Amino acid sequence: MSGRAAWRSILAGPAFLSVLALRATAVDASRVGVPQLLAPDVYFYEGDIAKGHCNNAWVIFEDYVLVIDANYPSGAKEVMAKIREISQKPIRFAFDTHHHGDHAYGNQVWVDLGATPVAHTGVLEEMHRYETGFFGGPPGRWEEDAKEREDVRNSHLKPPSVLFPDTLIFDDGKHRVELRHLGVAHTHGDGLAWLPSEKVLFTGDVCVNGPYNYVGDGDTGEWIETLDKARALGAKVVGPGHGPLGPPSVLDDQRSFFVELRRVVGAMSEGKEPDQVQAAIEAMRAELVKNTTIARYVGEDLAAQVAKVYRELTGRSLPDRRAELKAQQTHEAWHGEE
Ligand SMILES: [Zn+2]
Repeated sequence: MSGRAAWRSILAGPAFLSVLALRATAVDASRVGVPQLLAPDVYFYEGDIAKGHCNNAWVIFEDYVLVIDANYPSGAKEVMAKIREISQKPIRFAFDTHHHGDHAYGNQVWVDLGATPVAHTGVLEEMHRYETGFFGGPPGRWEEDAKEREDVRNSHLKPPSVLFPDTLIFDDGKHRVELRHLGVAHTHGDGLAWLPSEKVLFTGDVCVNGPYNYVGDGDTGEWIETLDKARALGAKVVGPGHGPLGPPSVLDDQRSFFVELRRVVGAMSEGKEPDQVQAAIEAMRAELVKNTTIARYVGEDLAAQVAKVYRELTGRSLPDRRAELKAQQTHEAWHGEE
């Protein structure tokens, strides 16, 4: 189905997805590649993880469009075309929810359209740390990613230039979007987009809906606290960074995954040497998947997640670093291959 046809089929349905309808929707009701109208002028778009794309959202204000997440360059082009089927208003701002390639490397594409990349101050700080090539040092993550991705090779890094330390508000009297930094989570610079009238929350990778948690750049303990603050907003609809749109319980499930992961790693580490903990990873997996609310978060990256949590809890590293290195490479190139 073409984008336009898909769009018409949405218009032919109810005016927009009611919150009740969403509650009835299974958390895995995936609609990759089809704009989903959540409320008047508010759209969610589930990206194709096979292309490494993140999810996007956009809000059509009176005079301009705000896009949530820049995606990879190829994802940005795809999303831009979807927006253009709906609105001809200028796309003025692209909000990077964090510095990772699949959320921020498309910035140049949006800039070419006349938009300005916007982010929490921590995004620029993280880019200074990891994008060493851009800032005059040795090759960094962009250069690594460019080896794998043609769209990255054919574009350039464009760091966000409008930065906010805590909150940035877009409010034209018709729509209000609050960009908020709630603390360390997936990275040290995560921002979320909160729509208080519609009670819609776009989380970036602070919350995902499936086995997409890359934990290498954040802190799972602080992540739990940040998720508590996100839950306190009172969202009725949650647009995660990856995976399908969901009800507010997605925030609870994401939180429970980290609580359980930390509990299981802590319990299995007591009185054990690192190599014994390493050997227990499959036993941990078996225990975690028994919990049906979090089983969908347990995937290929579990070994890397266990290694990171073990370091957070004990200050020690597991002997086999391959899982963590692979997760980092996978995250940089594809953000999870599931
Ligand atoms: Zn990420």
